[in-house]
Amino acid sequence: MLIVMTSDARAEDIEKVLEKIDALGYRGHTMPGENRTAIGITGNPGSIDPTHFENLTGVAQAIRVTQPYKLISKDLRPEKSIVKVGTATIGGHELAIIAGPCALEKHEQVFAAAETVAASGAKFFRGGAFKPRTSPYAFQGLGIEGLKMLAEVRDQFGLNIVTEAMDEHGVDAVVEYGDCIQIGARNMQNFSLLRYAGKTRKPVLLKRGLSATLDELLLAAEYIMSEGNYDVILCERGIRTFSNHARNTIDLSIIPAVHRLTHLPIIVDPSHGTGHNYMVTPLARAGVAVGADGLIIEVHPKPEEAMCDGAQALTPGQYLELVKEVMAIKSVLADKPHSEPASA
Ligand code: PEP
Ligand code: MN
Repeated sequence: MLIVMTSDARAEDIEKVLEKIDALGYRGHTMPGENRTAIGITGNPGSIDPTHFENLTGVAQAIRVTQPYKLISKDLRPEKSIVKVGTATIGGHELAIIAGPCALEKHEQVFAAAETVAASGAKFFRGGAFKPRTSPYAFQGLGIEGLKMLAEVRDQFGLNIVTEAMDEHGVDAVVEYGDCIQIGARNMQNFSLLRYAGKTRKPVLLKRGLSATLDELLLAAEYIMSEGNYDVILCERGIRTFSNHARNTIDLSIIPAVHRLTHLPIIVDPSHGTGHNYMVTPLARAGVAVGADGLIIEVHPKPEEAMCDGAQALTPGQYLELVKEVMAIKSVLADKPHSEPASA
């Protein structure tokens, strides 16, 4: 159920609704909006009788939710969510660029990449300290040592840190050293991990699973939000299909579909989405053109020496050119609605 408050509802009216939800044994999620506050209810096994709420002061409507998701929905929050990540935001008018190496390898490599990312004007730095590798014998990441390098990057360059956690211990570590918890494609349906990240108050970058549908991605976000963490950013990073000319098939039509259904921002990862250096810039351009709120890009000072994903890493020069091009595309799109039928 969704409770929509009147535009002049007072804080104490909202409090009364939350108390009522509590007394019924459910959980209330307050979403303040531009014109009104809405309160989503979770934890109810069946439908709730709207008369519990209809006569409370400040309640405009009690609406039964028929879709499987509640908190990601535009019914709850008609305006787009702008997610604060460290000192910057994702989901507003600005295109968010998150860039850095696939894996943190050594101090020199991390700092060279960070210098390029800072020079591009991007506000977010990526780099994995815990790497989900197909082979247990492949480089698994520097762990805490890598996270400490990221904390240094933030201090030195003012970049906000986005980095992956693969388990609960990783979430605790990213909360300590980073600004945004990345949940990777392989963990998109690790429901206990999603709940754990949902109990933190750090934003979460949730990557689409290798064969996840739109509904599955949205319900994964719902897991995080149902624990009270509403700062979720979605990411299209390509899916598995019969197509084999690229590492994955980047599914850009999910961007307007996401914007139509949810208030959450979505970014595109053309690096994992294609797996090939020469495809990254064209698909980055396309991602921005289709309405993504940002990009996540792998860049390495020496891609030929990368310990992970070198084939898709951009050189610093290629990356700087990409940023220029996508910013130019973004500027012609400024404030176009992404999910509405085209006007004549
Ligand atoms: C990554 O971004 O480092 C990564 C491993 O991506 P994905 O989870 O999308 O494969
Ligand atoms: Mn990678």
